[in-house]
Order: sequence, then structure tokens, then C-alpha cells
Amino acid sequence: MSNKSGILYVVATPIGNLEDLSPRAVRILSQVDLIAAEDTRHSGRLLQHYAIATRMTALHEHNERARAATLIEDLCDGRSLALISDAGTPLVSDPGFNLVRAAHAAGITVVPVPGACAAIAALSASGLPTDRFIFEGFPPAKQAARVSYFQGLRQESRTQIFYESSHRLRESLADMVSVFGPERPAVVARELTKQFETIRSASLADLCAWISADPDQQRGEMVVLLAGAPPEEREKDGEAERILRLLLAELPVRQAAALTAQITGQKKNQLYERALELVRDTTPGPEA
Ligand code: SAM
Repeated sequence: MSNKSGILYVVATPIGNLEDLSPRAVRILSQVDLIAAEDTRHSGRLLQHYAIATRMTALHEHNERARAATLIEDLCDGRSLALISDAGTPLVSDPGFNLVRAAHAAGITVVPVPGACAAIAALSASGLPTDRFIFEGFPPAKQAARVSYFQGLRQESRTQIFYESSHRLRESLADMVSVFGPERPAVVARELTKQFETIRSASLADLCAWISADPDQQRGEMVVLLAGAPPEEREKDGEAERILRLLLAELPVRQAAALTAQITGQKKNQLYERALELVRDTTPGPEA
């Protein structure tokens, strides 16, 4: 790497409250040669608030690959660049991955300027265990895909963090109730750092009822957090899986799922879906 290369700064911006931009972030954004922003009009308001006059260029999911190449050239020519997204930490369910990866490949120094991130802000105030957690981003938009995706997380023992859009919150919570059970503790953290910030901690069933009863709770931006599966539940799931596998070796899928449901008390349709997955995984493909 030429020692004249510029630095790529990855700068977190506020998720609502404009005061959540660090003095260091303001200084970096003022001093770099160029700011790559997800939406230049949106970020223009933030820059105006802080009287930052640095030139901006758009870097969003549709142009990122092509744009990254020219930005890397700029960096190699010695110009410094700050990457920002519409809100929070870039690359966290936001564009920037291609640019940061290309910067590493080109030997460019990448410097994080940390700040707000909705997932971490929500976790820190959720009251759920924080010693181990996973960030899952947005669950699939279509219901069938979402249910099977949640099923894949049934045995997850760590706290799970999801982003969800306001118009899917209710459906997504209802699917969580059906997959994880009504009693699993969860939290909805809505409009963090903004005027109508609400953090509600309850069982999945109670959260679902509360949100259905109050349309205001379906507005704005939200993070959904789910407690990890307790050990008893993981044991029960493990036992059901063992029985299902044994029965599948002898019986058709539907019958194996029905019998496992009778023996274990687990839901028949979930066992059926799981049985289909197991059969799919063990059936050789056409090339075999
Ligand atoms: N990069 C951002 C970050 O660091 O949090 C996330 C961007 S992602 C496209 C937007 C999602 O983040 C929203 O749909 C919502 O799930 C969550 N989010 C962003 N701001 C939020 C806020 N103020 N309160 C609650 N959730 C928020």
C-alpha cells in the first residue's frame, strides 16, 4: 500500500436523536474529502444540523458494487472517505460491505467511528441476557419462509435480535408465538431515542395481544428481541427430533410426524415440516 492512501472511516450516525452523533464523528465528517451516504438528501439534513459542508456521493445497495471501485481509486489516490448510512451503524442491515471488503483487499486502512446501533441500543435496555446474543437482521418477508426460518431458531439458547418493519410486526409476532410458544419472554423496542420511544417486555402472547390492541404500537421503527430457548425446551426438542428420525426410518412422513406429536406433545405441523426437511436432506439429488 502506498503510504499516501487515504483512510476509509465507517461512521455511525443517530437512529433518531440528532444529539447522538459523537464529537469525533462530527470532526471526521468535517475533515474527510468525501462522504459516501446511502441517501444524500436524507443525510444532508444531518450534515446541515452540524454545519458540515463536506461533499457527498451516493452509495446504496443498487450502485454499491460499481461505486466501490471508483471510491477505492479515490482512496488509493490519497483522498479520505467517510461512509455513513441513513441511520445507525453502516453495514448493519445497511450498505457498505462491498466497499469495506474492497478497501481491505486494496490495503486501505479502515477506521470505525462507533455510535448508535438500534440492535445494541435495544439489547442494552431490554432486560434480556446480554452475555451471549445473536443479531439476525430482518426475518423473511413472506410468511411460509418466515415460519421455517423461526423454526430453525427454536433451539437457539442465546438472546436473538431482529429488525422488523412496522407493517409486518403483528404477523411476525404471531408467527413467533406459534413457533416459540406463547410463554417465551420477548421485548419490542420501538422508536428508540425518539419522542415516542417505547420498550415493552412481556411474554410473546402478551406482546402480540398488546400490539394488536393498539395500532400506535405498530408505527415507526422497531427491534424485536427474543429470549433464548430454556434448557428444558431444548431437551424436549432434542427428544422429539430423536423419535422423529427413528420413526422416519420406518414410516411415511405424515405418519412419523403424527406419531411423534402424540408421543411428545409437540405440534404436528411443525414436526411435519421438520420431517420434510430431514427427508429432503437425506434424499440424494439427481446428480447422485
Ligand atoms: N444500520 C442501522 C443500525 O445500526 O441500527 C439499521 C438499519 S436497518 C435498514 C433499519 C431497521 O433498524 C429498522 O427497520 C428497525 O428495525 C431498526 N431501527 C432503526 N432505527 C430504530 C429506532 N430508532 N428504534 C427502533 N428500531 C430502529
